[in-house]
Formats: sequence, structure tokens, C-alpha cells
Amino acid sequence: MAMKLEQLKALLKETLIEGEFPYTPKGRTITAIVVRTTQSEAIFRTDGDLNKETVSASLKDPSPLTRVVVTKRKLTASERRSGREFFRELGIIPEDCSINKSMCGQCVDCLTYGFAAGDKDSDSKGSMKSRIITDNSYSLLEASQISDIKTFNATGESGTMYDLEDGKQRQSINSDEYVRPQAHFIDIETFKDLRFGEFLYAFGNILRTSRYGATPTRIGKIKNSIVAIILSKGEVFSSLELTKGIWDRLEKKEHPLNTSEVEEKTLEVTVELADRLPFKTTIITGEELQEVLETVRMAYKEPEELKNIISELSGWKKDEKKKG
Ligand SMILES: [Zn+2]
Repeated sequence: MAMKLEQLKALLKETLIEGEFPYTPKGRTITAIVVRTTQSEAIFRTDGDLNKETVSASLKDPSPLTRVVVTKRKLTASERRSGREFFRELGIIPEDCSINKSMCGQCVDCLTYGFAAGDKDSDSKGSMKSRIITDNSYSLLEASQISDIKTFNATGESGTMYDLEDGKQRQSINSDEYVRPQAHFIDIETFKDLRFGEFLYAFGNILRTSRYGATPTRIGKIKNSIVAIILSKGEVFSSLELTKGIWDRLEKKEHPLNTSEVEEKTLEVTVELADRLPFKTTIITGEELQEVLETVRMAYKEPEELKNIISELSGWKKDEKKKG
């Protein structure tokens, strides 16, 4: 059952910022623990190779293990893109705010994820750091278990192997390294010093994004599952630490893993690691978490109230109101 947005705001109150844009860091932290499961063969890069990193297998076992890495840049860029699409339709992201050209520096997307300096004449002088903090995301299992290479014919523009221009069959064969379906990546997204509207924006983007990758043709379909939300006054553990801790608890370390088992272990390790932190944490999970998720989903289905909350956010420039 969904709650009212006001109730959700009250639940997160201690870890949100009220009113003005936060000029000085307050350390109010909301952390989403996410299990990302591939739903198709997934290619995350344009040059045919996967990113990999060799690290210790687990918290208990120091022997090396090579894992596939999905870079934080890739994850955030895809989520950001889906958020911008949705709110541009609602008229909240201005037409002239463009990630590739000049960012406005004033809309909810620029304020939340940060922006780089625009050209000299634009209004968006300066730049701002993101308040969405992410790590690279690591595969739970070893790279050799969850990836494979396939070769394909490099088709011409007509989509066939027949080259229309010189009337010959094409010869080129390319290969791509891909992640198999039902591979699990463990990830932590941290929301730092956000106002309620900014939180709804960034959190909603995790729930709404299902395609990740460099370009629309080189992508993977991914299902994001949020297994816990941690409220705290400081940053929690890393996604690599969490990944290793889950690996320790897996009975069989073989692809394919059962997704609900992975989610269950993720929650167990989250609770354990949170316990060791030198500050107080509140973990939202179980039924309460389902209620939170349903509330955000409902807010996006009927976006009128969400639109109002986001429109009312003040910008980061102190003299903005006077300028009108
Ligand atoms: Zn903008």
C-alpha cells in the first residue's frame, strides 16, 4: 500500500534538507542498496570489451577473483537520461538544458546530479558537484562465469551483408564480449543532502531505468531491485565490500544464481556491515520498504503532485528570486 508523499517526507525527514539549496555539506545521507540483474545479453561498452577488475574474492578469502565492472559513469548517465526524458515531457527540464551542449544549471537534474560549466555567454557559469554518489558496480560471480564472446557479421547500412555501393558481399566479422542474462551486480547509490523533490527525482530514476549502456544500440536490459534503504549521518560501506560479503554467503558460486537468494543475502550482509559503522543507521526494509517503493511508483504514475514538489525547488543562485 502506498502512503502519502507527505508521510514519506516525514519518514526521511532527518536525512533530508528543508528549504534552500544546501550550500554547506550537512552529511545527511540516504543510501539505496541495489541488486541489478541483467535481463538480456548486455554490452556496456562500444569497443567490444567488458571492463574487468581483479580483486579479492571475498571478505574472508583473499585469493584473486576477476569481476566484471559496470562503471558508475555508465550507471548514472543512463538513469539521468531516463529522468530527463520524463521531466522534459512535463516541462520541468528546459529544452535548452542539454548534457552534450550547455547545461542550464537550474533544473532539478542539474541541481541533483551536478553540471559542468557552460559556454562563457550562458547563464550557467560555474559548475556543481553531484550529490548522487556512486561506486563502480561489481559482478557477484567471477567474470568467466557470467560473460561470453560472440562474433557477428558487421552489416552495412542496409542491415544486410550485401554492400549496396560496390555490389559485393561484406566480409568483416566483429566480436563482442557480453554479460549473460541473469547475472547480478551489487550497487550502492548514496543521496547526500538532498531536498525531498531532488530525492524523489534521483530515487525514481533507479526504479524507472531498465536500459543501461553507451548508445541505444549497445545496451543491456537490467532489472533494478532495491533491497534496503539506509538513513544515516555519514556515508556507509562500499559496494565492493558488500559484494565480497555476499560472495562469502553463497552456497554455490555458479551461474545462474537465484535472484531472490541473492537479494536475501544482500540484505543480511547490509545489516551486518551497517552494524559495524561508527554511527547510527536506520535500515528500511521488508513491508515498510515495499510501501516506500509503491509510494514513489504511484507518484510517477500520477505525476501532478510530484511535478509541483519539484517545480517549487529553489535554484542554487542566492539572487535568483530577485532576478525573477
Ligand atoms: Zn538543467
